[in-house]
Amino acid sequence: MLNLINNDTFELKLLSENYGADITKNKVLMTYFNESIFFNFIIRTVKEALPLFKFGEGNPKVAIVSGVHGNELPPQIAAMFLIEKLFEMPKINGTIYVVPFASPLATKENVRRLKNRDMNRSAHIAGSTTNIIVNAFVDYGIDFVADFHSTALLSNPGYESVFCSINPNLKSKEIANFITESTGSKLISYENAGSSYSGALEDELNIMGIPAVTCEVVSENGAVSRGSINRSRIQMDAFLKLFNIIL
Ligand SMILES: [Zn+2]
Repeated sequence: MLNLINNDTFELKLLSENYGADITKNKVLMTYFNESIFFNFIIRTVKEALPLFKFGEGNPKVAIVSGVHGNELPPQIAAMFLIEKLFEMPKINGTIYVVPFASPLATKENVRRLKNRDMNRSAHIAGSTTNIIVNAFVDYGIDFVADFHSTALLSNPGYESVFCSINPNLKSKEIANFITESTGSKLISYENAGSSYSGALEDELNIMGIPAVTCEVVSENGAVSRGSINRSRIQMDAFLKLFNIIL
Protein backbone atom coordinates (compact mmCIF):
# COMPACT_ATOMS: atom_id res chain seq x y z
CA MET A 1 0.00 0.00 0.00
CA LEU A 2 2.67 2.48 1.02
CA ASN A 3 4.51 2.26 -2.28
CA LEU A 4 1.39 3.53 -4.01
CA ILE A 5 2.23 6.79 -2.30
CA ASN A 6 5.19 8.34 -4.00
CA ASN A 7 6.99 10.28 -1.31
CA ASP A 8 10.50 9.20 -0.26
CA THR A 9 10.51 10.89 3.10
CA PHE A 10 7.09 9.72 4.29
CA GLU A 11 6.99 7.50 7.36
CA LEU A 12 4.03 6.12 9.25
CA LYS A 13 4.41 5.60 12.98
CA LEU A 14 1.81 3.71 15.00
CA LEU A 15 1.77 5.33 18.43
CA SER A 16 -0.71 2.94 20.03
CA GLU A 17 -2.72 0.01 18.80
CA ASN A 18 -5.17 0.41 21.68
CA TYR A 19 -6.94 3.40 20.21
CA GLY A 20 -7.78 2.58 16.60
CA ALA A 21 -11.37 3.18 15.49
CA ASP A 22 -13.52 3.08 12.39
CA ILE A 23 -13.92 6.79 11.70
CA THR A 24 -16.11 6.05 8.65
CA LYS A 25 -18.91 5.72 11.23
CA ASN A 26 -18.76 9.52 11.58
CA LYS A 27 -21.07 10.39 8.72
CA VAL A 28 -20.54 14.15 8.98
CA LEU A 29 -16.78 13.70 8.72
CA MET A 30 -17.10 11.28 5.82
CA THR A 31 -18.95 13.75 3.62
CA TYR A 32 -15.62 15.56 3.23
CA PHE A 33 -13.60 12.54 2.09
CA ASN A 34 -13.64 10.83 -1.26
CA GLU A 35 -12.85 7.25 -2.22
CA SER A 36 -9.23 7.91 -3.20
CA ILE A 37 -6.39 5.53 -2.39
CA PHE A 38 -4.98 8.22 -0.14
CA PHE A 39 -8.08 8.63 2.02
CA ASN A 40 -8.70 4.88 2.17
CA PHE A 41 -5.13 4.38 3.36
CA ILE A 42 -5.56 6.93 6.17
CA ILE A 43 -8.92 5.49 7.19
CA ARG A 44 -7.56 1.92 7.31
CA THR A 45 -4.58 3.05 9.35
CA VAL A 46 -6.70 4.91 11.91
CA LYS A 47 -8.88 1.80 12.23
CA GLU A 48 -5.88 -0.13 13.54
CA ALA A 49 -3.98 2.42 15.59
CA LEU A 50 -3.32 5.96 16.71
CA PRO A 51 -1.12 7.02 13.79
CA LEU A 52 1.51 9.72 13.35
CA PHE A 53 2.40 10.78 9.80
CA LYS A 54 5.91 12.06 9.23
CA PHE A 55 7.18 14.03 6.22
CA GLY A 56 10.63 15.43 5.48
CA GLU A 57 13.88 15.11 7.39
CA GLY A 58 16.10 17.10 9.71
CA ASN A 59 15.41 20.31 11.61
CA PRO A 60 13.27 22.04 12.56
CA LYS A 61 10.88 19.30 13.68
CA VAL A 62 7.35 20.56 14.08
CA ALA A 63 4.09 18.76 14.85
CA ILE A 64 0.44 19.41 14.10
CA VAL A 65 -2.27 17.70 16.14
CA SER A 66 -6.04 17.64 15.64
CA GLY A 67 -8.94 15.58 16.94
CA VAL A 68 -8.05 15.75 20.64
CA HIS A 69 -11.79 16.49 20.90
CA GLY A 70 -13.55 14.05 18.57
CA ASN A 71 -16.50 16.27 17.68
CA GLU A 72 -14.36 19.24 16.60
CA LEU A 73 -14.34 18.32 12.94
CA PRO A 74 -12.90 21.28 10.94
CA PRO A 75 -9.27 20.85 12.13
CA GLN A 76 -9.39 17.07 11.57
CA ILE A 77 -10.57 17.60 7.99
CA ALA A 78 -8.02 20.39 7.48
CA ALA A 79 -5.26 18.06 8.76
CA MET A 80 -6.28 15.35 6.27
CA PHE A 81 -6.10 17.87 3.43
CA LEU A 82 -2.73 19.05 4.73
CA ILE A 83 -1.41 15.46 4.76
CA GLU A 84 -2.68 15.00 1.20
CA LYS A 85 -0.72 18.09 0.18
CA LEU A 86 2.42 16.99 2.04
CA PHE A 87 2.45 13.70 0.12
CA GLU A 88 2.77 15.74 -3.06
CA MET A 89 5.44 18.16 -1.82
CA PRO A 90 8.80 17.64 -3.51
CA LYS A 91 10.73 19.36 -0.73
CA ILE A 92 10.11 20.07 2.93
CA ASN A 93 12.66 22.19 4.76
CA GLY A 94 12.69 20.15 7.99
CA THR A 95 10.29 17.58 9.41
CA ILE A 96 6.53 17.81 9.80
CA TYR A 97 4.68 15.33 11.99
CA VAL A 98 0.87 15.19 11.84
CA VAL A 99 -1.55 13.41 14.19
CA PRO A 100 -4.86 14.07 12.40
CA PHE A 101 -7.06 12.00 14.75
CA ALA A 102 -5.76 12.19 18.29
CA SER A 103 -8.80 10.41 19.79
CA PRO A 104 -10.06 8.11 17.01
CA LEU A 105 -12.83 6.54 19.08
CA ALA A 106 -14.25 9.96 19.96
CA THR A 107 -14.08 10.97 16.29
CA LYS A 108 -15.91 7.77 15.32
CA GLU A 109 -18.70 8.59 17.77
CA ASN A 110 -18.61 12.34 16.96
CA VAL A 111 -18.32 13.17 20.67
CA ARG A 112 -15.94 15.41 22.61
CA ARG A 113 -14.65 12.85 25.09
CA LEU A 114 -12.90 9.54 24.64
CA LYS A 115 -14.39 6.90 26.95
CA ASN A 116 -15.90 9.76 28.91
CA ARG A 117 -12.55 11.44 29.53
CA ASP A 118 -11.55 14.82 28.13
CA MET A 119 -8.23 14.16 26.38
CA ASN A 120 -7.33 17.85 26.76
CA ARG A 121 -7.42 17.38 30.54
CA SER A 122 -5.61 14.01 30.48
CA ALA A 123 -2.21 14.60 28.87
CA HIS A 124 -0.56 14.04 32.27
CA ILE A 125 -2.31 10.68 32.78
CA ALA A 126 -0.26 7.66 31.65
CA GLY A 127 -1.86 5.75 28.79
CA SER A 128 -4.23 8.52 27.62
CA THR A 129 -3.96 9.32 23.91
CA THR A 130 -2.62 12.80 24.63
CA ASN A 131 -0.05 11.39 27.07
CA ILE A 132 1.07 8.91 24.40
CA ILE A 133 1.40 11.84 21.98
CA VAL A 134 3.43 13.93 24.47
CA ASN A 135 5.81 11.02 25.08
CA ALA A 136 6.24 10.36 21.36
CA PHE A 137 7.00 14.04 20.70
CA VAL A 138 9.64 14.03 23.45
CA ASP A 139 11.15 10.81 22.01
CA TYR A 140 11.29 12.19 18.47
CA GLY A 141 12.88 15.43 19.64
CA ILE A 142 10.08 17.58 18.21
CA ASP A 143 10.82 21.30 18.56
CA PHE A 144 7.41 23.00 18.26
CA VAL A 145 3.77 21.85 18.38
CA ALA A 146 0.41 23.35 17.46
CA ASP A 147 -2.80 21.62 18.57
CA PHE A 148 -5.88 22.50 16.48
CA HIS A 149 -9.43 22.67 17.83
CA SER A 150 -12.78 24.23 17.05
CA THR A 151 -15.07 26.09 19.41
CA ALA A 152 -18.82 26.69 19.26
CA LEU A 153 -20.09 30.25 19.45
CA LEU A 154 -20.98 31.26 23.03
CA SER A 155 -18.79 28.47 24.43
CA ASN A 156 -15.25 28.72 25.78
CA PRO A 157 -13.52 30.56 24.11
CA GLY A 158 -16.26 30.93 21.41
CA TYR A 159 -14.12 32.92 19.01
CA GLU A 160 -11.18 32.24 16.68
CA SER A 161 -8.07 32.34 18.81
CA VAL A 162 -4.66 31.00 19.75
CA PHE A 163 -3.87 29.98 23.34
CA CYS A 164 -0.34 30.21 24.69
CA SER A 165 1.58 30.71 27.91
CA ILE A 166 4.59 32.73 28.95
CA ASN A 167 6.16 30.42 31.59
CA PRO A 168 8.04 28.14 31.39
CA ASN A 169 8.32 28.55 27.65
CA LEU A 170 8.18 32.07 26.20
CA LYS A 171 8.50 30.58 22.71
CA SER A 172 4.86 29.46 23.10
CA LYS A 173 3.81 33.12 23.12
CA GLU A 174 6.09 33.97 20.20
CA ILE A 175 4.45 31.25 18.09
CA ALA A 176 0.98 32.45 19.12
CA ASN A 177 1.92 36.06 18.30
CA PHE A 178 2.98 35.07 14.80
CA ILE A 179 -0.14 33.00 14.09
CA THR A 180 -2.53 35.63 15.46
CA GLU A 181 -0.82 38.46 13.58
CA SER A 182 -0.86 36.60 10.28
CA THR A 183 -4.39 35.16 10.54
CA GLY A 184 -6.37 37.75 12.52
CA SER A 185 -7.13 35.17 15.26
CA LYS A 186 -7.17 36.59 18.81
CA LEU A 187 -4.37 35.94 21.28
CA ILE A 188 -5.18 34.27 24.61
CA SER A 189 -2.08 34.31 26.77
CA TYR A 190 -1.64 32.74 30.21
CA GLU A 191 1.15 33.61 32.62
CA ASN A 192 1.92 29.98 33.55
CA ALA A 193 1.27 26.78 31.57
CA GLY A 194 -1.22 24.50 33.32
CA SER A 195 -2.14 27.07 35.96
CA SER A 196 -5.93 26.96 35.56
CA TYR A 197 -6.26 23.19 35.04
CA SER A 198 -4.05 20.17 34.38
CA GLY A 199 -3.65 17.94 31.40
CA ALA A 200 -4.07 20.18 28.35
CA LEU A 201 -1.84 18.85 25.58
CA GLU A 202 -0.41 22.32 24.97
CA ASP A 203 0.38 22.90 28.65
CA GLU A 204 1.98 19.49 29.21
CA LEU A 205 4.22 20.04 26.18
CA ASN A 206 5.24 23.51 27.37
CA ILE A 207 6.01 22.08 30.81
CA MET A 208 8.05 19.26 29.20
CA GLY A 209 10.12 21.87 27.32
CA ILE A 210 8.43 21.71 23.89
CA PRO A 211 6.90 25.10 22.97
CA ALA A 212 3.25 24.62 22.04
CA VAL A 213 0.06 26.53 21.27
CA THR A 214 -3.63 25.66 20.89
CA CYS A 215 -5.48 27.10 17.87
CA GLU A 216 -9.26 27.44 17.78
CA VAL A 217 -11.63 28.18 14.89
CA VAL A 218 -15.36 28.73 15.24
CA SER A 219 -17.64 25.83 14.36
CA GLU A 220 -20.65 24.08 15.83
CA ASN A 221 -19.70 20.88 17.70
CA GLY A 222 -20.16 17.70 15.70
CA ALA A 223 -20.62 19.72 12.52
CA VAL A 224 -18.70 21.92 10.10
CA SER A 225 -19.64 25.59 10.04
CA ARG A 226 -19.12 27.46 6.79
CA GLY A 227 -15.50 28.40 6.15
CA SER A 228 -14.19 26.70 9.30
CA ILE A 229 -12.05 24.06 7.53
CA ASN A 230 -10.35 26.80 5.57
CA ARG A 231 -9.78 28.94 8.68
CA SER A 232 -8.16 25.97 10.44
CA ARG A 233 -5.92 25.34 7.41
CA ILE A 234 -4.91 29.01 7.40
CA GLN A 235 -3.82 28.65 11.04
CA MET A 236 -1.87 25.46 10.20
CA ASP A 237 -0.16 27.15 7.26
CA ALA A 238 0.79 30.14 9.44
CA PHE A 239 2.36 27.79 11.99
CA LEU A 240 4.40 26.08 9.25
CA LYS A 241 5.31 29.39 7.66
CA LEU A 242 6.83 30.66 10.90
CA PHE A 243 9.54 28.01 10.60
CA ASN A 244 9.95 28.33 6.81
CA ILE A 245 9.35 24.63 6.67
CA ILE A 246 7.44 24.64 3.41
CA LEU A 247 9.41 26.36 0.67
ZN1 LIG B 1 -11.23 21.29 21.66
